[in-house]
Amino acid sequence: MPVRQLPDELVNRIAAGEVVERPASVVKELIENAIDAGATRIRLTTAGGGLALIRVEDDGVGMDEADLRLSVERHATSKLPDDALDDIRTLGFRGEALASIGAVARLSIASRPAGAESGLRLTVDGNHRQGPIPQAMNRGTVVEVEGLFANVPARRKFMKSERAETMAITDVLRRLAMATPDVHFVAEGPDRTPLNWPAQTGPGALKARLMQVMGADFAANAIPLMGERHGVRVAGLAALPTYSRANSLSQFYFVNGRSVRDKVLLGAVRAAYADYLFRDRFPAIALFLAVDPTEVDVNVHPAKAELRFRDAGGVRSAVIHAIADALEAAGFRAASTVADDVLAAFRVPEPVGPARAGFAAPAPAPAGTPTVYQSAPATLAGFAEPSARFDPGPPAATPAEYPLGVARAQMFDNFIVAQNGDSLVLIDQHAAHERLVYERFKAQLAAGPVATQAHLIPVVIELPEDDCARLDAAAPTLERLGLVLERFGPAAIAVRETPAVLGQADIDGLVRDLADGLAEWGDVAALSDRLEAIVGRMACHGSVRSGRRLRPDEMNALLRDMEATPHSGQCIHGRPTYVELKKRDIERLFGRTR
Ligand code: ADP
Ligand code: MG
Repeated sequence: MPVRQLPDELVNRIAAGEVVERPASVVKELIENAIDAGATRIRLTTAGGGLALIRVEDDGVGMDEADLRLSVERHATSKLPDDALDDIRTLGFRGEALASIGAVARLSIASRPAGAESGLRLTVDGNHRQGPIPQAMNRGTVVEVEGLFANVPARRKFMKSERAETMAITDVLRRLAMATPDVHFVAEGPDRTPLNWPAQTGPGALKARLMQVMGADFAANAIPLMGERHGVRVAGLAALPTYSRANSLSQFYFVNGRSVRDKVLLGAVRAAYADYLFRDRFPAIALFLAVDPTEVDVNVHPAKAELRFRDAGGVRSAVIHAIADALEAAGFRAASTVADDVLAAFRVPEPVGPARAGFAAPAPAPAGTPTVYQSAPATLAGFAEPSARFDPGPPAATPAEYPLGVARAQMFDNFIVAQNGDSLVLIDQHAAHERLVYERFKAQLAAGPVATQAHLIPVVIELPEDDCARLDAAAPTLERLGLVLERFGPAAIAVRETPAVLGQADIDGLVRDLADGLAEWGDVAALSDRLEAIVGRMACHGSVRSGRRLRPDEMNALLRDMEATPHSGQCIHGRPTYVELKKRDIERLFGRTR
């Protein structure tokens, strides 16, 4: 399509106004031109927030000499062949952009159409034209804009910071890129972090592009929109109600590939979410409408950012239904960010050094409080063998001295749910017990011989010969730790006694684990340096495992014991043994406080 000068009568019907308001508007016009030219790859380079340099390079159809000369004239366009302002299928149509830019900056356009030997370059500086002169280049067009508003001090005064202008440019680029997933976008320059959004094709192209532009987080918390009503096709991604924002900056509206602001669309989205969201919250959304071009007037705003629907009611209904259907289909799915918020709100205890106990001071159990450990403090093994005593239940009130609170329930046979004055505490019973056994074990070891429990019938464990040999060699050291074992034939080990502190330990697992450790550590002579590690492995196998149901008194006993034990905030592998959620965090999760 050749570039032609529009007749005056048509010019007068075109929404007049300033096209070039700030650097981002130049970027918008130049990239729209590249998209209209059928580019598959667009590279944007900026400097100084676009005021120093804006360069847009494309691989589109290019212009021959006649078109190039005309393109910088006012109201010269190749896009309104039939004067049909009511049927616009391109992003541009006014033929004003290049002329307007040339009036307020040094503009250079180099272009090479298919079939041409080389390119041509034309420069415009205010009223001064130069060229075209030959320019070596690939097919496509390169437009450079330097010193924007240098000759318009009044305009320059209104520019925001370089950073703000760069952000506005990025916003423009995002919107254009969202509307054209099949175009590869690159942005670079000294004033920005580079962007690279390779072309997306196929059925998942739009979602893939939205992930590039809006982030994987949005895509993970959004549901696909699809629908057609009243001649309006609706597509895109809409956030789950739980993934909302305090402003509308994460809302993107497109009509026939053009990014727009439109009250009808905003209102429809608000209405669709009305049942789910507070009035001051905005769902993130990327909404794409396809309507017959004759059904929409894009010629109402100088920057083409607003439009008018012939059938606003139909559009509104189509959008509301598409969103409502999608939300309904999503059922009870909650945003993953709610789970993240919960996790973030949980307080993990600070790692504690050897000097500090897990709590400021071991809390003495108030007199008269029935706990297992008050009556039988030395038998952690009691966990493995629940006594048949009458269960007095947890104390009615939560004494302030109990930092871990009172046990309320056990979940998944491994997590204790406790409540203290103003928080909910979740305890990993296995991790906690492991730490308790370990600390108790170490204390015993320091105090003298480790108490053992003898097995009337030795536990025989079959193992490879070299494992048996290593265990046999380590037997004297292990005996000091309360583990008495001996070789039982070439490929078996008999375990006669185990440390009492381990209770009903998983002996088989313990011995196999130790055999692995010995193989790893190698030198038996250095085994005495490994006592802590060995005790750690033993503690692991002597602990209340996940899957063990605890009675309330057992749970509370565990909590009281944790409070009295150093380092009980972490298991021996360094993971937390409990996490805490404050009442106000819980309220925050439900939006009760802001
Ligand atoms: P409009 O886009 O409204 O037509 P412009 O001033 O932006 O007006 O551009 C004028 C004409 O120059 C366009 O109609 C088009 O024919 C040509 N043109 C501009 N940029 C390019 C480009 N990157 N590749 C090919 N042709 C272009
Ligand atoms: Mg244009």
